Amino acid sequence: MIELQFEGLPLAAPIQRALSEKGYTQPSPIQSKAIPVLLEGRDLLACAQTGTGKTAAFALPILHRLAGQRQRLRRFEVRNLILTPTRELAVQVAESFSTYGSRIPFEIGLVYGGVSQGPQVKNLRKGLDVLVATTGRLRDLIEQGYVDLSGVECFVLDEADRMLDMGFIRDIRKISELLPRKRQTLLFSATMGPEITKLAASLLYRPEEIRIAPKVTTAEKIDQRIQFMERGDKQTHLVELMGQRMKNNPGELNLVFSRTKHGARRLAQKLDRAGIRADAIHGDKSQAARQKTLDRFRAGRTPVLVATDVAARGIDVRNITLVINFDLPSEPDNYVHRIGRTARAGASGHAITFCSDEELDLLRAVERVIKQSVPVDRDHRFHSASIAARHRDGLNSRPRNTGGGGRGGQSKRRRFGKTSLRTALVPAAKRSGRSRFSQRGQQRSAGGRRG
Ligand code: AMP
Repeated sequence: MIELQFEGLPLAAPIQRALSEKGYTQPSPIQSKAIPVLLEGRDLLACAQTGTGKTAAFALPILHRLAGQRQRLRRFEVRNLILTPTRELAVQVAESFSTYGSRIPFEIGLVYGGVSQGPQVKNLRKGLDVLVATTGRLRDLIEQGYVDLSGVECFVLDEADRMLDMGFIRDIRKISELLPRKRQTLLFSATMGPEITKLAASLLYRPEEIRIAPKVTTAEKIDQRIQFMERGDKQTHLVELMGQRMKNNPGELNLVFSRTKHGARRLAQKLDRAGIRADAIHGDKSQAARQKTLDRFRAGRTPVLVATDVAARGIDVRNITLVINFDLPSEPDNYVHRIGRTARAGASGHAITFCSDEELDLLRAVERVIKQSVPVDRDHRFHSASIAARHRDGLNSRPRNTGGGGRGGQSKRRRFGKTSLRTALVPAAKRSGRSRFSQRGQQRSAGGRRG
């Protein structure tokens, strides 16, 4: 099959030139799918991560339109509005517009909080072809009468799931109420949960839907290990491991993943109390606080950062040499994103996953996604041979209250674990149709645990 080239896309010549100057020849999958649809003026709902080339996917069609028919701008008018969850992403998006649009005249502005609004207002006054904004400051400026959204032609929500996680839904709704009904709307999100689907249904009109599977092959340069241990041993093990790292690998950065915000906070405190400089980053922190945390981490002043999956998406730190999964991710794809934080820019990196009995199902899901089994590291004092054996034998997570503690309210299958229940209740000769049985059981146990 011949791969599509940028030249094959009907983009204006000055944009083609800018792309070839940048060294881009082939559109990424999201670009080749989205650009033709967007050039037709359709709405778009795209499930794609950062790193897939999604910025160019929405920037190029907007720039193409600007290259063709640029109209005079009214005072404070905005023609194309891009909302992002963070200031860093807003800056990155604006830079991409400037790069891809380097050969066409257009006005671009940036609006975000934490800095004086004066220069932003001055920029808005002349009218903007493209405004990239975070929601809070944008609402402030709208309320002061500095932004006119009545002529917006294209509205883009970038990393919408992160915006929702950070609590910006009200801002998004308020802002979208000010847009003209007739417009093009694009929503990009790394995940498609029910809240995103609801938001999309209220903002988009018959959207084209594109789903770009995250890259599921793990980087070859990452040395991955799994360490089996009881849940209750994880904290002590982490503290000891980090203590060794501080001694043997000073100056290297360590990123620890926790499934919950609360867990992230608690782990950072625990490490800190043990004399290991650590900090947590999660969605509850303000933008400014997160930025400070990241700056300290990057500079090596707090060499251990504990993060949740959502908060970590914005982290682009080059010299992380170790990623620890304190908890297995509840979404197996996230394993790939997590460990991809190390071994950046050609460096090699390590990833260690702590796995307790309750997480065997999640580990199996991860191994299915990465299409390989992660080597086991037994060389630590908390190694649990029995959990390792359960994993090796393909057994599922043991329900937390096995061993006679089952209460009347639970189903028998949950109480005994499906394998033992099946072995116990069904005579061997009748044990047929195993796969259907175990599939059902597996779904049930995964659902139960998450809920
Ligand atoms: P994004 O997902 O938009 O953050 O883009 C990820 C990275 O890929 C950025 O550094 C882009 O500059 C780069 N990129 C985007 N599209 C292409 C392309 N078609 N060819 C090569 N690099 C690209």
